Amino acid sequence: MPWRKAWIDPSSFPSPPALRATLARRAYEVWISEIMLQQTRVAVVIDYWNRWVAKWPTVEALAAASADDVLAAWRGLGYYSRASRIHAGAKLVCADPDMLGLLPAGVAELVDKVPGVGRYTAGAISAIVFGRAAPMVDGNVLRVLSRQMGVMGDVKADKRVVDVLWEAAGALVETVARDGGEGVSDRPGRWGQALMELGSTVCTPKPSCGLCPVTSTCRAYGEGYARAVEKGFSDGVVGTPAKLLDIEDLCTLCEPMEEADDADPAESKPVSKRQQKTISSFFAPPARKKSGDPTPLTPRALDIIANHAKQFPLKKPKKKVREEECIVCAVRRSSDGKYLITRRPDKGLLAGMWEFPSHTLPEQLNSKTSALARKSKAVAFVSGLFSPEAGRTTKKGGNTPSSSSVVVKHSGELGSVPWLFSHLKLTMHVHLFTLHDDGEVDVEFALADARAGIATTGQRWSSSEDVERESMGTGMRKCWALVNDV
Ligand code: SF4
Repeated sequence: MPWRKAWIDPSSFPSPPALRATLARRAYEVWISEIMLQQTRVAVVIDYWNRWVAKWPTVEALAAASADDVLAAWRGLGYYSRASRIHAGAKLVCADPDMLGLLPAGVAELVDKVPGVGRYTAGAISAIVFGRAAPMVDGNVLRVLSRQMGVMGDVKADKRVVDVLWEAAGALVETVARDGGEGVSDRPGRWGQALMELGSTVCTPKPSCGLCPVTSTCRAYGEGYARAVEKGFSDGVVGTPAKLLDIEDLCTLCEPMEEADDADPAESKPVSKRQQKTISSFFAPPARKKSGDPTPLTPRALDIIANHAKQFPLKKPKKKVREEECIVCAVRRSSDGKYLITRRPDKGLLAGMWEFPSHTLPEQLNSKTSALARKSKAVAFVSGLFSPEAGRTTKKGGNTPSSSSVVVKHSGELGSVPWLFSHLKLTMHVHLFTLHDDGEVDVEFALADARAGIATTGQRWSSSEDVERESMGTGMRKCWALVNDV
């Protein structure tokens, strides 16, 4: 990963200005990587990150970039509000007299001062760049810790569970840092990244416990191991399972867990709290051979352990994703072949991105709209955009309002594009219109009036080449591909 670099040891820098400049650049690089990695896979992020730092190598360069350029560089990564927040953050970091281009080293300051930086990103910057004992807990780490600690809780929504795991992560990184001596060091950053790496490579949703380097501290592994021993699926086991305190007597966080059916891992059945006590009561630390090597386990025993471990953390049924349909209207001007595009509001879904004028269909029409009904909705919507009642038109080169209006013709529905956001399943029905004008009508004026009260932040006529370059969401770009194919 190109953003993984050697730690900058402040004691090795002879001059404070040189150290400051190096730290500023490094903090910026880590910041960008961490924001890009939220909700996006590493393999995808690598190219984006390389292009980004080549284009804007410093926070000052990013601060000076245009919003459209920033969104265009983000195109394809999704969750575009991340790009806007990084951009706003860069401007603020450069303008703030206390920061002057250098991100703060402390978690609290980072969270307080920099837009879009939460405690995870702040922890990563503080630990990886500045060598402070700050925890960095992403989804992978929450999963690892819930298994290591045997916490059967909802790590996404249960604040008590999340807080306990963050506290544990904080205590761990402080211990790791302290073991390395006083002051800042590379240990917190290496530790945090190692935990995340463990979660992304070994302790995945389907864990490879047989490859794991930290089985001896893992509660989920211990419970699974005890289950395998009880069922007689391990070879060469030595030692007697230790009698440990029942975790349910110590902890009120855990919820009843499903007991995996070892005969068929695909099937599972719920167990009561009381039965779960039975499971944890035979908890034993992993047995070891007398030589001290880990006990070899049969593949079946490892399956039992991994099947037990993969139940952590608690999985809540996913909420049903909302479904919506909309009509996307590409309006082409006959006089010069340009298309009308509008800019989305600065906040919310796809903030600040460009799109063809779009209109969400009423919920009751979802999945029920016939092509005819959609056409009629699309025609009404586009007519409204250019309605002479809503906006008077003017002759080019003159200020005299005219009663003439433009003529917009529906050319057809080109197809439907399904698109999935994290919370929304959207179907976009793409319609093409041709606007016939004689080159005299200043349509932009009419449109600006017509759209008064509609929360866009701009509109313009763009040539096909310009549409290609605009910052558009990937779904809207697929709509454009349909239009461009005509
Ligand atoms: S032993 Fe298994 S469950 Fe525990 S941390 Fe390792 S991979 Fe995860």
